[in-house]
Amino acid sequence: SPDLVTFGETMARLENPAVGPMRHARSLDLGIGGAESNTAIGLARLGGSAAWFGRVGDDEFGRLITTSLAGEGVRLGHTVVDGTAPTALLFKERRSGTLTRVQYYRTGSAGSRLRPSDVPHDLIRTARVLHVTGITAAISDTARQALDDAVETARDAGVPVSLDLNYRSALWTPAEAGECLHTLVKRADLVFATEQEARLVVPGDDPAALATGLSALGPGDVLVKRGADGAVAFCEGRLHVQPAHRVPVVDPVGAGDAFAAGYLAEFVRGLPVATRLATATAAGAYAVTVRGDWEGLPSRADLELLRTAGNDVTR
Ligand code: ATP
Repeated sequence: SPDLVTFGETMARLENPAVGPMRHARSLDLGIGGAESNTAIGLARLGGSAAWFGRVGDDEFGRLITTSLAGEGVRLGHTVVDGTAPTALLFKERRSGTLTRVQYYRTGSAGSRLRPSDVPHDLIRTARVLHVTGITAAISDTARQALDDAVETARDAGVPVSLDLNYRSALWTPAEAGECLHTLVKRADLVFATEQEARLVVPGDDPAALATGLSALGPGDVLVKRGADGAVAFCEGRLHVQPAHRVPVVDPVGAGDAFAAGYLAEFVRGLPVATRLATATAAGAYAVTVRGDWEGLPSRADLELLRTAGNDVTR
């Protein structure tokens, strides 16, 4: 049985290799990206077992997604190949050294056709944690129903539910998101949010107030992420302030998914809050130092390197 079960929409990712407007790129780098599968890869790299399911198109991009995830050791037994819709695309336009613009082509995609009949109830019941994101609630009505079904299945079986709010402004309005995410937070055991995302659900001027406010809705672990400023958590009834590592930023996308992977990798092993936060923070740091949404995610050996390397070269 897997440590983590997650699901959602994963897309083919196209990115200009050189910095500048996308229209001047003569070739694009091809990869994959999706918040939930990024987290599944992160957990697998840290030695956990992760299962992901979703719909992909019956096309080369769909096959890229399944072979990439399988290559990272993510289990895909319940993924559906949908012959009636294409795999969605995401374009990452590297506009400056550190500024990235992300554009999605996902309307009507295979991934957004996820529906309750795709949900593997038995698999979810055996997991140590079910990880979901707000994106799935926003991509379609049927995906939202699948999300509700999966969350209820986990709750009924006593499997902790982890929720990353992951607000996407292209998919819904702040008001729509706020209402839906509020009901999801109430049913979650762990919640990951940026300050901006937390404010969609609860009022609060500072991260501590936001973490406390989200925790008052029910979840035992609340993580408010603050980029290079680290994170503020409300776990086991008290606040924890976690600084970030100082690292050179190459690509900020994917730090949040990495952070969730690091936290959950230690959570499923029953390790204390301090360890969960340390691994989450290290995973977030590794994510931003490498181009790509998940390619830089650390192994256990990489975590050790970050802890022990006093200088740049390790031999
Ligand atoms: P994403 O860009 O994936 O949407 P996010 O906004 O959800 O990320 P962030 O707060 O940016 O989440 O990052 C999550 C965690 O990753 C932070 O709490 C921090 O530990 C680490 N992190 C992010 N950015 C940096 C950085 N510039 N330097 C060091 N660590 C970072």
